[in-house]
Amino acid sequence: MNVRVAVNGYGTIGMRVADAIVRQPDLELAGVAKTKPSFEARRAIEKGHRLFVAGGGDLAQFRAAGIAVQGTLDQLLREVDVVVDATPESVGRANRPIYEAAGVRAIFQGGEKADVADGSFNAQGNYAAARGKRTLRVVSCNTTGIARAVSVLGPRWGVEHWEATLVRRAADPGEARKGPVNGILPTLQLPSHHGPDVRTIFPELSISTIALVVPTTLMHLHVNHVRLRRAPRGPTEVLDAFRSAPRFRVFAPWEGADGTPQVMEFARDRGLGTGDMMENVLWEAGLQVEDREIRFFQAIHQESIVVPECIDAIRALAIPSVDGPSSIAMTDEALGLSRTAAPAPPGAVLAAERVLPRKAVAPRAVRGRHDDRSP
Ligand code: NAD
Repeated sequence: MNVRVAVNGYGTIGMRVADAIVRQPDLELAGVAKTKPSFEARRAIEKGHRLFVAGGGDLAQFRAAGIAVQGTLDQLLREVDVVVDATPESVGRANRPIYEAAGVRAIFQGGEKADVADGSFNAQGNYAAARGKRTLRVVSCNTTGIARAVSVLGPRWGVEHWEATLVRRAADPGEARKGPVNGILPTLQLPSHHGPDVRTIFPELSISTIALVVPTTLMHLHVNHVRLRRAPRGPTEVLDAFRSAPRFRVFAPWEGADGTPQVMEFARDRGLGTGDMMENVLWEAGLQVEDREIRFFQAIHQESIVVPECIDAIRALAIPSVDGPSSIAMTDEALGLSRTAAPAPPGAVLAAERVLPRKAVAPRAVRGRHDDRSP
């Protein structure tokens, strides 16, 4: 029998998670819950999702707007095994007692503090540890991106230290009132909260992050500098490792994807139906190997990267027979991600095939403070 799932909070993340659940062979979307009637509520109905009222919303308001609702969140929770909470930051924590009272397993998002759930989750990072828990927090978009990359480099070469500068998008495309519209805002808390958040997945990892916000809505971009424990043979080996890992897309120079605008053009055009880029995006020419030091860029589509992770988190909570690699494969197949992974053309000469002479890099001091919790 399929696992029945509710999505509470139908915004940027919630609507994508709902669509992704519908595509999974072993999951069933029982309904989505919203506080107010809106164009998103109308779209949910048009997509065939059953709609429920949450968060003290007024049923009469929905009916007055001609939006058909099936009942309240409490009623929806009685029908499901798992709820995915995709409400704004801190609302998830307030909702936790509702889920506990209903006896349903719950998944929270990265805007919540780590202790909202029994564990933080990243599919490639710690699926095994999450199996059978009652609640999980899928870490934020930036943390998910870093955790996936750690999962590729760590097991192969070991990570001695990870430095990342996160160039963050100012707002999601639909957020008309957020900014900056002009200017660059450094996050004046060092290190940023992202490093400690990655350690909720990899407690032993030495990592330090710095963040700044720029006027774009498309994607975040990470500038990574990683000191490995063992030297890879060269960039080809590292790129092959990323290419062969699930949820990575490496752009070759001949593709002409200079930056995030072209990446999102690719995402809109590739026919997966969502216009999303759920993979970590790397550039072949933007990766350098210098003995044990690796530098690379990666772009993160903040609106969608956590969607496959939410699907895997549902299986980790509710389907004990499925392990991490099987869940990832199933999720990606259903979302179409595995069909669009692009291997290097046979015999291609990689632009990154440049092994530079070794240079000493002094370790940086790390202080332990958190900054704001937004993704
Ligand atoms: P959003 O504002 O786009 O959507 C949240 C939705 O929840 C809205 O439709 C809102 O009306 C609804 N809502 C508010 N209170 C509610 C309640 N009590 N009950 C039910 N619904 C309620 O927010 P989002 O961007 O989807 O973020 C949701 C979570 O995901 C946050 O924790 C956020 O930090 C995290 N996250 C966001 C992004 C991103 O870039 N947008 C990326 C990764 C993780």
